[in-house]
Amino acid sequence: MQAVSAAARQGRPQVMVVDDDPRDTQALSEQLSGRYEVRTYADAPAALDALRDDPPDLLICEQRIAERSGSTFLQDVKRLGGGTKIIVLTAFVNLDTVLSTIQSVYIDYFLAKPFERGQLNHVVNTAWADRQRDRDREALLSANRHTIQELERLKGNLEASVVAHAEALIQLNAELERALLAIQDKNRELTKLNESLTVQATIDPLTGLHNRREFDRRLAEEWARFKRYSRPLSLIMLDIDHFKQVNDTYGHECGDRVLFTLAGLMRSSVRIQDTVCRFGGEEFIVLLPETPLPAAFQVAENLRHRVAEHAFFCQDIALRIQVSLGVAGATDSTPLASDELLKMTDQSMYRAKQDGRNRTVALDPNHPERVLLSSAPQLTA
Ligand code: GH3
Ligand code: MG
Ligand code: MG
Repeated sequence: MQAVSAAARQGRPQVMVVDDDPRDTQALSEQLSGRYEVRTYADAPAALDALRDDPPDLLICEQRIAERSGSTFLQDVKRLGGGTKIIVLTAFVNLDTVLSTIQSVYIDYFLAKPFERGQLNHVVNTAWADRQRDRDREALLSANRHTIQELERLKGNLEASVVAHAEALIQLNAELERALLAIQDKNRELTKLNESLTVQATIDPLTGLHNRREFDRRLAEEWARFKRYSRPLSLIMLDIDHFKQVNDTYGHECGDRVLFTLAGLMRSSVRIQDTVCRFGGEEFIVLLPETPLPAAFQVAENLRHRVAEHAFFCQDIALRIQVSLGVAGATDSTPLASDELLKMTDQSMYRAKQDGRNRTVALDPNHPERVLLSSAPQLTA
């Protein structure tokens, strides 16, 4: 073989010539070396060895050599998979040769000896163009394979990232729901707390009646209504007579029990729209909207009788108590403010105390020293 370095061959199409006739190889080399890199071999085994390491683009093989190798040489060349295009040269052209050559799957081109330079060039150039098309096709296929692989990798990454994001979103959503439930729980607690605070702020804990603060608020409300619509409005103040004696005689707990029972009694003795409040200590006040003074006086009297007739049980002892009540009613002319109405009610209650207790008194708003209504007829002026 003529030794040619790989560097020197670079860039030129590789042609391997396998022929045992030196004149043929010489002629082929001379004719092709202008365009091709030509290596020549005299027998198939040597050519096959060289082929394994460095398959050429084209193989020009003398038919006798191929036949001498038992037809496996060309088969082996193709099996190496280097894409080598095979041109077979033959000196014995008859129909059988042509047919068997054409039918051989290993042979790409066929050239009969002797051949013109132009014929050789045509066949070799055609084989080379064929080889180049194969290469381009392979390159294209390889590029496509690469693109497909890249796309599949990207698709995989995208799917993984979508899955990761979806999982993160699901987790975030679950956390948000948990946080929302916790906030709802807290809100419920707060609502309960607020309700209980509102109750604490407006209710007297011993009797369960509204406290003084709630009374003030309601009085202001009713007073505004009275002023706007001139509807009647009255107050009753009730104070237990000699309550200190109850505590002193039966103990504070019994006193508490009496206050609690009295609260229930009062509540059940008035209309639903009336408000009974614990004013402080053993004093109670009733706010009666839509009620003129005479009617309020009557309510107070009924209350006084009910209390007097009621047995207040404490430690199996039936206690009897009496109460003094003051009543005042707002009219168009008097009083001018709600605290004056309250003061008149208080003064009336004190007058009832002064006049002997266990009675109801309503003072004359225009002459507070005069009693307008009283339970004791002999005391009315
Ligand atoms: P009067 O007829 O003049 O009203 O005599 P009183 O004894 O009822 O009046 P006083 O103002 O002298 O005493 C009121 C008593 O009410 C004294 C106080 O210990 C008692 N008291 C006030 N609040 C409570 C309470 O919540 N529970 C109990 N058990 N007693 C109370
Ligand atoms: Mg009192
Ligand atoms: Mg009292």
